[in-house]
Amino acid sequence: MGAVEDRYTHHMTQKRCAICKRPVETAFAPFCSKRCADVDLQRWFSGAYAIPGDADDDSQAVGTGDGGDDVPGQPGRGHL
Ligand SMILES: [Zn+2]
Repeated sequence: MGAVEDRYTHHMTQKRCAICKRPVETAFAPFCSKRCADVDLQRWFSGAYAIPGDADDDSQAVGTGDGGDDVPGQPGRGHL
C-alpha cells in the first residue's frame, strides 16, 4: 500500500511538513497536523523570546524577508 500512496503523493506534488516531513494536511498547512503546527509555533516563540537584544541585528534582516506574519500593517493585507 505504501508504494501506491507514494506515487499518489508525488502526483499531487504535495508539500512536506517542515517538522516531521510527512505530507502536509490542507487543514493544518503548511504542517501535517496541529501537533506539528504547535511545535513550530513553540520554536518560533522560544526563538523570539530568546533574543537577548544583542544578536538582534542579524535576525532582523532575515525576518523581513521570510517570516513577519505578526507584523501589523503588512502589505498585501490591504488596510481600508
Ligand atoms: Zn508534521
